[in-house]
Amino acid sequence: MFLTDYNEIRALLARHGFRFSKSLGQNFLTAAWVPERIAEEAGLDETVGVLEIGPGIGCLTEQLSRRAGKVLSVELDRSLQPVLAETLTGCENVEVLFGDVLRQDLPALVKEVFPGLTPVVCANLPYNVTTPVLTALIESGCFERITVMIQREVARRICASPGTADYGAFGLFVQWHCETEILFDVPPSCFVPQPKVTSTVIRLTRRGQPPVQGKDEALLFRVIRAAFNQRRKTLVNALSAGLGLGKEQVEKVLVLRGFDPKIRGEVLGIGDFSAITDELYSLIHADL
Ligand code: SAM
Repeated sequence: MFLTDYNEIRALLARHGFRFSKSLGQNFLTAAWVPERIAEEAGLDETVGVLEIGPGIGCLTEQLSRRAGKVLSVELDRSLQPVLAETLTGCENVEVLFGDVLRQDLPALVKEVFPGLTPVVCANLPYNVTTPVLTALIESGCFERITVMIQREVARRICASPGTADYGAFGLFVQWHCETEILFDVPPSCFVPQPKVTSTVIRLTRRGQPPVQGKDEALLFRVIRAAFNQRRKTLVNALSAGLGLGKEQVEKVLVLRGFDPKIRGEVLGIGDFSAITDELYSLIHADL
C-alpha cells in the first residue's frame, strides 16, 4: 500500500469510517518524498530508538521502521487504531501507544521501550501543540536529536538570531539546550487536508553543555521572559517591571556589564543575557 497516495488514503480512511479532526492538527502527508526525506535527515540506524508523535495513518512510521532499531509512535486519536493495525502490518519493530504525548512520563517510557538504544525523536508534529511538545521533549533531557516538521513561522522563531523580528524567549530556550538547523520547506499541497501555512523540517541536536556557564538557569529564563514580555520597552523598564527590581538597580547592572542602559532585549545574544543574569544574581543575593 502507498501510504502517501491521495486516492489510497481516501479509500483507506473511508473503509474505517475515519473523519479528520482539525483540533488534533490532522494533516496527513500525500507526497512520498516528504516522509522519506524527514526519516533520512533523522540520522537513524539499528542502534537508535525513535519516538514518533502522531503517526496518523503511518506513512512516516513506515519509513522510520525501515531505518531504526525500534519505533514508538504515540497517537492521541484512538479511531486511528484499526487503520494503523492495517497499515503497519509487517513493521515488527513498531509499537503504537494510544494517548496524549503531553501526559507521558518520557524518561520512564524511553527507559522501558528503548533499552540499549540511542533515543531520538522524529515526527510531523500536530501544529496546535508544537510549543508544549517541544518544551516537554527538551526538558525531558532524553533525546539526542529531534527532527520534526512544524509550521514555518515557528521554525523561524526557534532558529532566529538576535535583532530579528522572529527572535524571542522560546527560540532562546531551544537554543540554550540544542543546536538548531532549518532543513527544508514543505508546501501545503503535500498534505490532506491542506493546511493554510507552509511547513518546515528542523533538526535540534542536544548540546553536551549549555553554550555559556551561568550562575542560575531558572533566573536566566525569568530574565529572558521579562525582556520579551515587553519587547518594545527598554531592557531597564522590562526587567524592572518583570522582576520587581528598581530601575536604578537594573541600570547599574547593565552599565557594570558594559551595556547601553537604553538597550532593548531583542538585540542581546544568549551570552549577553547570561552575563546580565549573573550580575542580577549577585545583586539579588547581596540584598538577602
Ligand atoms: N504522521 C502523520 C503524517 O505525517 O501524515 C500525521 C501527522 S498529523 C500533522 C499529527 C498527528 O498527531 C495526528 O495523527 C494527530 O491525531 C496526532 N496528535 C495530535 N495531538 C496529539 C497528542 N497530544 N499526542 C499524540 N498525538 C497527537
